[in-house]
Amino acid sequence: MAHKTETLSARSDRAPNRGVFIVSLDLELAWGASDLWGQRTARMPEPLSEVLLQTRDVVIDALLELFQQYRIPATWAIVGHLFLDHCEPVNGLRHPDMPRPTHSWFKDDWYTRDPASTIQTDPIWYGRDIVKKIMIAEPRQEVGCHSFSHVIFGDEGCSEDVAEAEVRKCVALAQELGIELRSFVFPRSQEGHHSILSKYGFLCYRTRRPGWFNALGGRAHKLARLLNDLLALSPSCAVVEKQPSGLWSISTSAYYRSASGVGRIVPVQSRVRQGIKGIHRAIETSGVFHLCLHPWSLAVETERLLGGLQRILEYAVRESQEGRLNLLSMGQLAERMETSWSHPFEHVPGHRVEARKAEGVIG
Ligand SMILES: [Zn+2]
Repeated sequence: MAHKTETLSARSDRAPNRGVFIVSLDLELAWGASDLWGQRTARMPEPLSEVLLQTRDVVIDALLELFQQYRIPATWAIVGHLFLDHCEPVNGLRHPDMPRPTHSWFKDDWYTRDPASTIQTDPIWYGRDIVKKIMIAEPRQEVGCHSFSHVIFGDEGCSEDVAEAEVRKCVALAQELGIELRSFVFPRSQEGHHSILSKYGFLCYRTRRPGWFNALGGRAHKLARLLNDLLALSPSCAVVEKQPSGLWSISTSAYYRSASGVGRIVPVQSRVRQGIKGIHRAIETSGVFHLCLHPWSLAVETERLLGGLQRILEYAVRESQEGRLNLLSMGQLAERMETSWSHPFEHVPGHRVEARKAEGVIG
């Protein structure tokens, strides 16, 4: 249970008309779906690999350009295997140092689809070049963690040992590149093993957005979400809470949908309206609007979806320039919550020192 007295909303009286805008992305390339395509098909379906190549070759650079143009310090939750540029089997076994999850829907060895090759041969399984690009991007982007191999932490097939090995491996790989991981995003948003995250120095993790449709299950849930997005209903502010594990949980507010599947019938304009409404509400209530997306979601209808995102970011940066909105990464928000006990926002009178201190840690 969360300590309700330490929520962000409880402090909103200290910061009138000052909201926060966060963008977080799940970057996983092939790892995001490697356990999902048919058990009898070892090869990735052709359309999926095309989507992932478009993501790699076009979408990621375009997103970094947008974030630079609109000064957005986004959080990129990256699968740890993408920190590599190659890997090879040892005595016929891929990643022998990694214990395997026993997810009921995946009967093979967890790494059986890992090509155990190089970034040149199989670019959708490796991403060291992408991590380096994100590291040098301006303004400074936050590199977060999305597990090493997209193991589902909240599933019973993921033991404590597996979860710890996944996190430990990511922390070590990040350290090699001089990155300190502070923010975690659970694969498929299925939470578990939180105490491991605090053991390895994480500050915060992402949780599912609050929404009227969450009480529904299965198809009704999907349909309600679709309706919610079609009508561009105003998203809730993120709930930011200090958890007993010592970590801050930061929920999402809205998801920037792909234009494939049912997403085809949601006009880009609805995504834009929803984003702007979310920012507006964050400002009105001194809350947090947290937009999340998968880069692959922009691999179909790339130009149109980038255009929509650009309009949301344009609105955010204008509000930021007017002094009404803080543009923060997940880690920056958590750091400010941690160091500035009263309020994380830098322009609240009397709290500038704490805010600068937070800036120094996260940058
Ligand atoms: Zn590998």
